[in-house]
Amino acid sequence: MIDETLLSVLACPRCDDRPPLRQEGDLLVCTKCEHAYPIEEGIPNLLPDAALPPSRWKQEETGKSDGRES
Ligand SMILES: [Zn+2]
Repeated sequence: MIDETLLSVLACPRCDDRPPLRQEGDLLVCTKCEHAYPIEEGIPNLLPDAALPPSRWKQEETGKSDGRES
């Protein structure tokens, strides 16, 4: 889990007005552009290169049927 204080200071690098992020499992999701950033070993990767567009991570969320837990 990401600390709420940490979460509150993080912002999407793709959006100029620094919208807040929300946690979705192992991802931090921008509340504006809905790009998702992976949380790797407890550390959010907010590099623009790491961003997953909504179509990518939403597909992964609904498509997981193998019960895999990371
Ligand atoms: Zn954004």
